[in-house]
Amino acid sequence: MDNIEPLIFEKSAPNRRCFIPPVCDVSEKPITHFIPQKMQRKQKPNSPEVSEIDIVRHFTRLSQMNYCVDTNFYPLGSCTMKYNPKINEDSANLEGFTRLHPYQPTEQCQGILKLLYDLEQMLADISGMPYITLQPAAGAHGELAGMLIIQAYMKGRGETRSKIIVPDSAHGTNPASAALCGYYIESVQSNPDGLIDTKKLKSLLSNDTAALMITNPNTLGLFEKDILETCKIVHDAGALVYCDGANMNALLGIARPGDMGVDILHLNLHKTFSTPHGGGGPGAGPIGVSKALETFLPTPRIEKSTDNSYTLNYDYPSSIGKVRAFYGHVGIMIRAYTYLLLLGKNGIIKAGENAVLNANYLRNKLSKYYEIPYGKTCMHEFVISAKKQREKGVSALDIAKKLLDYGFHAPTIYFPLIVEEALMVEPTETESRETLDAFADAMIEIANTIVNTPEAVHNAPQYTKIGRPDEVTAARKPKLKWGNNC
Ligand SMILES: *Cc1c(COP(=O)(O)O)cnc(C)c1O
Repeated sequence: MDNIEPLIFEKSAPNRRCFIPPVCDVSEKPITHFIPQKMQRKQKPNSPEVSEIDIVRHFTRLSQMNYCVDTNFYPLGSCTMKYNPKINEDSANLEGFTRLHPYQPTEQCQGILKLLYDLEQMLADISGMPYITLQPAAGAHGELAGMLIIQAYMKGRGETRSKIIVPDSAHGTNPASAALCGYYIESVQSNPDGLIDTKKLKSLLSNDTAALMITNPNTLGLFEKDILETCKIVHDAGALVYCDGANMNALLGIARPGDMGVDILHLNLHKTFSTPHGGGGPGAGPIGVSKALETFLPTPRIEKSTDNSYTLNYDYPSSIGKVRAFYGHVGIMIRAYTYLLLLGKNGIIKAGENAVLNANYLRNKLSKYYEIPYGKTCMHEFVISAKKQREKGVSALDIAKKLLDYGFHAPTIYFPLIVEEALMVEPTETESRETLDAFADAMIEIANTIVNTPEAVHNAPQYTKIGRPDEVTAARKPKLKWGNNC
């Protein structure tokens, strides 16, 4: 890959065209007549003038510079970049779905209502949460809906509790969602095993605590083994347990948050349930709640009548109301439904088991070369600390950049915050042993390079289409336009 072609965006040549409009068959005069003089264009617009082949090559070239789960391994921890079967796309593209209108009467939409109802039941079955809404548009949006439900529930009890406890290993959206609802955030420290310190939690709980927001398995990839006791002490304090279930891979078909005492849970259909993501959406973050919280769920709720027909029920006076237009991102739900039907009950269990197996396989291979500060085994992901490599002057960021030279996407870095020089690896169940071995070989070669020639890792990536951007100017002064005068 030595002869990397330069990035040339300027393809324009005067009067080159890829589209010839038909001759205008009406007078142009009325247009200039109606547009005020000062708003009329004096010069030709400065748009690119290109032929069809220029345009096709430009966009095809750009698409080839993109990295995606369809091109190679994407071990981005906490993001679950599993492969998404193409049959999901086929079903979401069926005309019967794409041509539906959300204002159509429910009698004409029985098929999609059945699909959504059945998907709710399947997610209830997998999570152990008896009542599900599919409406929230993302994980963070599910958290927000969950916090609003907690607030409505407490209000119904005549209480105004003002604090939410969040572990120090939590995903950033957790405290952000709670703070958006006006809650004060209290952080509970992890113990030396990387789990919630129940003693510290007990000392924080008071009659001003509305809820604990927990992630299980947590972001270190560890199962909170004291979850039953944790839920009990939170409930004894009159508070609720919110569980972040964005990454449910490890539990699929094996354990259910609902059985652990959780009151509210969100799931990310665009992570665990196989919808492509990474480009910023759309996604779906359904939430599941216990019996006590059911009446607060967003409306409309999909209901099944005794004659097997489906209706939309808006009649829930204590509902927090709508959180999204219509019913949320239905296309994402069709993909998740297809995925679950495709796997079936046994396939779902296998997916969960293989997610854990793949993570432990990689963890074990890498533990001889990198420090893995928490846990002896992991669930669906694990977190490396590049502390040892840092002593040689090489950071987690450098290692992540070097991986790009090997053709791999980088793992998540510098998260969770409690791990110094963190590299968070989530292989997912869809990767073959050969891919895992190739990734491990690359990581091991990088570790060995750092021992002898650490400076070789600083300049990475060297073989990608673009080098290492300046992170500050890339964010503060991004070039978002073609050319200077457009
Ligand atoms: C991805 C993720 C979220 C947020 O989900 P979005 O859909 O990106 O809003 C929350 N918690 C955890 C643990 C996650 O991995």
